[in-house]
Amino acid sequence: MDLSLFFAGTGGSVPGASRGLPAILVRRGSDKLLFDCGEGTQRQLVQSVGLLEIDSVFLTHFHADHWLGLPGMLKTFALRGREQPLTIYGPSGLNDLMAGVRFIYGRLPYELTISELAPKETVSGGDYRVAAIPVRHGPRAFGYALIEDERPGEFDPLLAERLGVKAGPDFGRLQRGETIDGVAPAQVMGPVRHGRKIVISGDTAPCELLVAAAHRADVLVHEATFIEEDSERALETEHSTARQAATVASEAEVSLLALTHLSTRYFAREIRAEARSVFAATETPRDFDTIEVPFPERGQARVLRWSDRLRASETLREGTGSAA
Ligand SMILES: [Zn+2]
Ligand SMILES: [Zn+2]
Repeated sequence: MDLSLFFAGTGGSVPGASRGLPAILVRRGSDKLLFDCGEGTQRQLVQSVGLLEIDSVFLTHFHADHWLGLPGMLKTFALRGREQPLTIYGPSGLNDLMAGVRFIYGRLPYELTISELAPKETVSGGDYRVAAIPVRHGPRAFGYALIEDERPGEFDPLLAERLGVKAGPDFGRLQRGETIDGVAPAQVMGPVRHGRKIVISGDTAPCELLVAAAHRADVLVHEATFIEEDSERALETEHSTARQAATVASEAEVSLLALTHLSTRYFAREIRAEARSVFAATETPRDFDTIEVPFPERGQARVLRWSDRLRASETLREGTGSAA
């Protein structure tokens, strides 16, 4: 099952020349979840992976840089004749917010559900869930954790055969929990394996609950609006410095930290260097970069640069051209 994060906008507060406002598209199998929808998000998507039929939108909070792209995107879906339902989740106040902008998108040909979440409430996606984590940024702001269910342990086919189970359909039955010829699944399956976990901080000052929620996460996406020399500003505005974000990552023992909500005040390399002095496995994705999150036994989460993808597809096109 593929799991990835696509960074549609990695800037914060105001858009920069190369960084759009916050939006992260998480894809898991065929599910498409959008976390925040800053102004310009639909354009960012159209210019990159395409404006996909998103299943649900999770808003972290109601500062304008995190949701202003939503009414336009809802309208575009309507103009495209979308029929698939869409759910928008967010903290309390979401109903009022959406009622206030309803005149912009008008009547929709698809079912729109608006769902205010309580702190720590979870939304089930079948074999995974999304939990709302109250963070430190105004009276109602969430981070979100996407947590997969545990997976069965690894099946040992050689051992199963040694115990007298024939290779073939019986192997499948064993792995689905049936006892075959007196051999119980527990005898041939390893210990239960954790599912993957990705955590998105939204805007926040360093937050204990987020550290707990991100414990051993495969990826923590954390805001880093400031650097240490502006730590007073970070405190006043309930944001984090790069060093603070890295400390959260270190305390939570995550595998990879991706910094976002980057300000036009700094160079990404300053932010990255400050964070890496505390937590080495830190990246600062650019707009349109992707982080792929494989199952741990298949490797670590890694950043795929959009520029590399573009180059690869150009090479492919050139290759096709010369062959024709
Ligand atoms: Zn923000
Ligand atoms: Zn904010």
